[in-house]
Amino acid sequence: MPSKPLKAKAPRPDPAALPAGEPARPGAEAAAGPHHERLADPAPRLEEGPIEETLRPQRLAEFVGQPQVKSNLGVFLRAARERGEALDHVLFCGPPGLGKTTLANILAVELGVEILHTSGPVIERPGDLAGLLTNLAERGVLFIDEIHRLNHVVEEYLYPAMEDFTLDILLDRGPSARSIKIQLPRFTLVGATTRAGLITSPLRARFGMTVRLNYYQPAELSQIVLRSARILGIGVEADAATELARRARGTPRVANRLLRRVRDFAQIQGARAIDRTLVEGSLRLLEVDERGLDDMDRRLLEALIHKYEGGPVGINTLAVVVGEEPDTLEDVYEPFLIQEGFLKRTTRGREATALAYRHLGLEPPASAPAVEPARPAAGGEPATLQDKLL
Ligand code: ADP
Repeated sequence: MPSKPLKAKAPRPDPAALPAGEPARPGAEAAAGPHHERLADPAPRLEEGPIEETLRPQRLAEFVGQPQVKSNLGVFLRAARERGEALDHVLFCGPPGLGKTTLANILAVELGVEILHTSGPVIERPGDLAGLLTNLAERGVLFIDEIHRLNHVVEEYLYPAMEDFTLDILLDRGPSARSIKIQLPRFTLVGATTRAGLITSPLRARFGMTVRLNYYQPAELSQIVLRSARILGIGVEADAATELARRARGTPRVANRLLRRVRDFAQIQGARAIDRTLVEGSLRLLEVDERGLDDMDRRLLEALIHKYEGGPVGINTLAVVVGEEPDTLEDVYEPFLIQEGFLKRTTRGREATALAYRHLGLEPPASAPAVEPARPAAGGEPATLQDKLL
């Protein structure tokens, strides 16, 4: 499938990284230690690119979970194919690692068209956008990751491009300025964002479909682990896959990452297949606890409880205390902690729930909010899934 990344996303050096297909270096991860890499951090890493490509489902039928999303996309794809038209513009929202890029690629494969990859901050000037759009084939897909980070000048050029497939380019400046209208191929814009709230309403209104991806159910993640293990040639027992899935914070990227790390431990120990004991032992060493919380999650909850009596505390203050960017806390850590019922977001700030106290082995004060985790309905669609058709 043709795919032309313009710029790698979120480069982050990792000394213990394994290039795709290379044998594991025994002890590399163990030596690097958990503090050198955040295993449960769902943000992508540069060196994971090749292996993520190997594990990415190519067709809609291979995409595990999110049944409502799959069925809606299936209908839209079929309708577009039957009419021989470009698919309506699609916006994918949701935390990192849930499959937004994967689905964008799948749309292109299912439509049998080319896809160009870029991301919001990379398109600095209208000329960059023009370059991308004029390079698209008829009915091609332009994928813009982190679309909430487009600058507003570029965004305004995008409006007529999305609506009428035209671009008005300004030539010269001052009195001799004139604009020319460029006719673009009919294309599909696929946007992805971890921050739906930061998308402006004019941009949002130009998407024919907004699809919200939610955290996966453990059973779905277990399927993903077994599928990845098959592709990577790793033996994994069923209950080991279940345990890995339970601790993968609802995120396929984390599930795949945990699988690869546990494989390294298996190799060091000379184990033929990954069993449940090995998963438990490895994750203990990697400091991923039985609820899938990592070191940063626990530091965040501990800071809230020990320094601020459980909150409420503003996100910027919390970010300083735990030494992390406020954006990363909001995109990556908070959504999971909220969904699992450890954290509550109020207008006055963040509060630790009674569950958070108990998880850290503490007695919750009477004032700690008792929040029910926003667990997806068993066996069906996640309760919070909104597959919004505009
Ligand atoms: P996002 O763009 O939302 O950050 P990606 O699409 O890059 O997430 O997905 C991260 C990795 O997780 C991919 O390499 C893919 O292998 C895996 N993945 C994501 N969703 C699924 C799924 N539904 N089924 C199987 N694998 C998945």
